[in-house]
Amino acid sequence: MNFDFATATQIVFGTGGLAQVGALAKPLGNNALVVTGREGSRAEKLLAHLREADISASTFSMAGEPDIATIGREVAFAKRERFDLVISIGGGSVIDAGKAIAAMLTNPGEVLDYVEIIGKGGALTVASAPFIAIPTTAGTGAEVTRNAVLGSREHGVKVSLRSPLMLPRIALVDPELTYGLPPALTASTGLDALTQLIEPFVCTRANPMTDALCIEGMRRAARSLRAVFAKGSDKAAREDMAVAGLFSGMALANAGLGAVHGLAGPVGGSFSAPHGAVCAALLPHVMAMNLRALRQRDPGNAAVYRYDEAAYWLTGDRKAKADDGVKWVSAAVGDLKIPRLGIYGIMEDDIRDLAVKAEKANSMKTNPIKLTADELVEVLKEAL
Ligand SMILES: [Zn+2]
Repeated sequence: MNFDFATATQIVFGTGGLAQVGALAKPLGNNALVVTGREGSRAEKLLAHLREADISASTFSMAGEPDIATIGREVAFAKRERFDLVISIGGGSVIDAGKAIAAMLTNPGEVLDYVEIIGKGGALTVASAPFIAIPTTAGTGAEVTRNAVLGSREHGVKVSLRSPLMLPRIALVDPELTYGLPPALTASTGLDALTQLIEPFVCTRANPMTDALCIEGMRRAARSLRAVFAKGSDKAAREDMAVAGLFSGMALANAGLGAVHGLAGPVGGSFSAPHGAVCAALLPHVMAMNLRALRQRDPGNAAVYRYDEAAYWLTGDRKAKADDGVKWVSAAVGDLKIPRLGIYGIMEDDIRDLAVKAEKANSMKTNPIKLTADELVEVLKEAL
């Protein structure tokens, strides 16, 4: 048994925990760049806490998904202003933007020197500037992952800036920040978290540390997904989902993912479709296909029993088997009103191309069994 496990240096979790941000940030810097989403006003409380702690701050609003050119401009500005601390408050894209800025504040050169496919693919050599990640959704787990997904308008692709040096210094998880999330976003991010707990649990690089996180995360997500969808301010349920999102990030960063994320990459790259909703729409079909392929080609594979175990944590029924887990997920996806993939404009003619691209995706490498292009086509057809 070999594994290694890395995460944020410190995780601070608790409802109302945002109030601690001044005390947490003070030892890290005095001049903060605060990265927010489209509505910068959501950072007002955070800025007040920083002022109380005598930390000066400027905000940068990252509307939409971060792209390499925008990050480059913001890094140049941040260097001129001599920011010594970066704080992101927002969803996965906002956290990824802050993570990339913090890395490029200290490393020489530009983003393209460090990304694969369209850049030189070099390794970051210097620790990122101190970075605090404060998620306002419960699902991506970006507060504890070591990569930032960045788009390139010029090349029409998404790439990852990735390094263990990019792990946040502090992940500050305050479930209260998710109370205002509308039901549709609550559903898609919550089911993304669930996907990021099931895929690492059955993947080829699962290890005892990620197993523990996946089991606890699945248990909490299963009991609270419907509750947060029905009532956004349900304190205990929002706490459960924030734990599930956090644990999902730790699990995927240290074990890997599978075919849902392998397919979601090309789908999100070619169509404007939110990541969480795409994963949710694919999840039950990928689970069913993985099980079929495992039973046909590798019936003794331990992943089959892992699907049985996942079914128990999802349904709470000791007698549950893998197929009951698929049924449970399928029902949850329906109850949470996740749309089918067709609404994003994906046509039958696009499917073969998406499947071929997905075969090469990084996440496919840890899927419990290698799925053929035909099987991936079938999954996409079922989810369309
Ligand atoms: Zn995901």
